[in-house]
Amino acid sequence: MNPFPPENALEFRAVSKLYGERAVLDRLDLAIPSGSVVGLLGKNGAGKTTLLRCALGLAKPQHGTVTILGEPAWTLSASAKQYLGYVPQTPQLYPWMRVAHLLDYTGSFYRRWNGALVRQLAADWRLPLNQRAGTLSVGEAQKLTLVMALGHEPDLLILDEPVASLDPSARREFLKVVLEIAAGGNRTVLFSTHITSDLERVADRVAILQNGKISFFGELGELKDQIKRLRLVSVNTFPERFDMPGILTQRIQGKQALVTTRLVTPEMLDRLETDWHATVEVEDLNLEEIFLELHDE
Ligand code: ADP
Repeated sequence: MNPFPPENALEFRAVSKLYGERAVLDRLDLAIPSGSVVGLLGKNGAGKTTLLRCALGLAKPQHGTVTILGEPAWTLSASAKQYLGYVPQTPQLYPWMRVAHLLDYTGSFYRRWNGALVRQLAADWRLPLNQRAGTLSVGEAQKLTLVMALGHEPDLLILDEPVASLDPSARREFLKVVLEIAAGGNRTVLFSTHITSDLERVADRVAILQNGKISFFGELGELKDQIKRLRLVSVNTFPERFDMPGILTQRIQGKQALVTTRLVTPEMLDRLETDWHATVEVEDLNLEEIFLELHDE
């Protein structure tokens, strides 16, 4: 028998998903270690929902393999589904059911159901238990869907833009609470967002989806260590373009330049200083700035 949990809760190997001619996922690789909380960041339309649906076996890639909790995603067994949770972007609720009934009904599908946790969350998040699901506000419906997905304490919880319908000021705090509950006991969470500020200080790691591939996967700190902005000033006029490895964007105006790069080496700084008689300041960027620079290539 395979060890459980597997080393990686989720693995994509060379996965391509095409709609018509267009590869939304393009030989994408990603391995999410069990026990991590990962934010999947990408612009609207980057393919986040497609990636999550492929992860769950709800969409079938044309190429590559997706393994979830040690099993092929497309032929997932019923028992593996007991250990998985999924909250789609648009809540799917039976509108005629009352909230309390929906919670009980959902619980009846799972061997493992933490009724005390569900009651506690429903109270904390002020869910109107006697109201019909169809009459809930968008935010309430999103919270109800989250409670329903947390109830069986899944080993891997997948959330598609879980806080998109909530008030921006409370969003990150709420997400932090959800992730703490979901990740308790070394469980794994993967959630998507297109808003960088939702992600800072709530995820252990970030995966950036861009042009059908994961352009970065690692800790936020690592990303910030890698990508820097160089502010250059010289007595001479700079060339039209710098030709050095790792450069993401460059804005050059006469004797001043701003260069964002993936790779700052002492040799690169030396070269800029000696070749161009430039003073170089190395500046840190926040996640929002990094995200914008990565998309400006
Ligand atoms: P995101 O979640 O990052 O906003 P999606 O995965 O929803 O991105 O969509 C990625 C791209 O794939 C979009 O251009 C979308 O129009 C397209 N797409 C998604 N699902 C389908 C589908 N079933 N048929 C055709 N195109 C689709």
